[in-house]
Amino acid sequence: MATGKRWQILVLPGDGIGAEIMPQALRVLEAVSSEIGTLDILTHDFGGVSIDRYGVPMTEETLQQAMRVDAVLLGAVGGPQWDDLPMEKKPEKALLNLRSALDCFANLRPALTFTALIDASTLKPEIVSELDVLIVRELTGGIYFGTPRGVELQNNRRRGFNTLEYDETEIERIARVGFDLARKRRGKVCSVDKANVLEVTQLWRDVVTEVHQSYEDVELSHMYVDNAAMQLVRWPKQFDVILTGNMFGDILSDTAAMLTGSIGMLPSASINARGQGIYEPVHGSAPDIAGKNIANPLATILSIAMMFRYSLNQPSVANRVEFAVGDVLSQGYRTADIMPPKPSETLQLVGTREIVDSVIACLKETEI
Ligand code: NAD
Repeated sequence: MATGKRWQILVLPGDGIGAEIMPQALRVLEAVSSEIGTLDILTHDFGGVSIDRYGVPMTEETLQQAMRVDAVLLGAVGGPQWDDLPMEKKPEKALLNLRSALDCFANLRPALTFTALIDASTLKPEIVSELDVLIVRELTGGIYFGTPRGVELQNNRRRGFNTLEYDETEIERIARVGFDLARKRRGKVCSVDKANVLEVTQLWRDVVTEVHQSYEDVELSHMYVDNAAMQLVRWPKQFDVILTGNMFGDILSDTAAMLTGSIGMLPSASINARGQGIYEPVHGSAPDIAGKNIANPLATILSIAMMFRYSLNQPSVANRVEFAVGDVLSQGYRTADIMPPKPSETLQLVGTREIVDSVIACLKETEI
């Protein structure tokens, strides 16, 4: 049912499989558009393709447009032809600049196993079946941004240094995101730190505990990061929301990703205080498979589902898209990356376009 609302979405397909998958994924957006109001979709060059056309990985016009829209949907950037450019001019720089200009401080990465893909994980089925963990990572602070930083010569020896810092405002706002999301899920937050060694993470623990006073319906636990890494592979189902800083989140979210099987299945969202978000698959531009109609588009489609949930406030549409993806997998359709080495007869190898056809067919069957 249409909501009568008008949404603006900036689409940045990017490079390699990003540019290949995006037109297909947009067909899914189109298929549900009648349920969510009017969608204004603007498409801009971004990453390597923008370097080739305009000499910069992101133009000022694209940045200004990104500030105005409700959500940004991103493919992937990069490729060998731009690898030798200086750091400031690389395609990936556009990504970092966009996240920081929009102040997208909260990165959400779900680790969700689809029953039909249970064998794609390297862990035993009983460990990962029906897994649904959400990692909430602080994205714009911590050691990746702290100063002073650098490499200097001291007493004729090179010395490298970085600064891990968080102030209480940064911790408080990400903690609120974690608690708010837990309320809509199973009501549990595990805050991950290294408070036994690092003072800044003792502050993290203190502030998270203070914020928790406004969320007494949510269960809060604390865990040291080394234990969290171990628990994630030992018994990941103990977690609902994992709340953590930038570097610990970077590492733990890749560990959690592997629990679910393929990188071609992993969506992500980076949101700011205004509810604006950048939605993108976790994978890169995969130049090794680009242009062959074999890339898995499901991570991008699941990123669209996250966009419905977190920026467009349409959880039922998000659920429907996620359900359609699960259904297509249950029907046995597989792109090459999620096809087991010795497939059963019930599985069918399909291309990028064809698996999207199946998702759309599924959405049409469940049309409201
Ligand atoms: P990658 O994620 O592009 O590829 C890693 C491996 O996974 C490759 O073998 C690739 O074929 C496979 N793969 C990735 N996505 C897939 C999909 N949807 N379906 C099937 N297989 C898939 O990582 P990489 O090879 O390290 O990097 C390639 C380029 O992408 C580099 O230029 C890198 O800087 C860039 N990159 C961009 C982003 C981003 O835009 N967010 C993220 C990571 C890497």
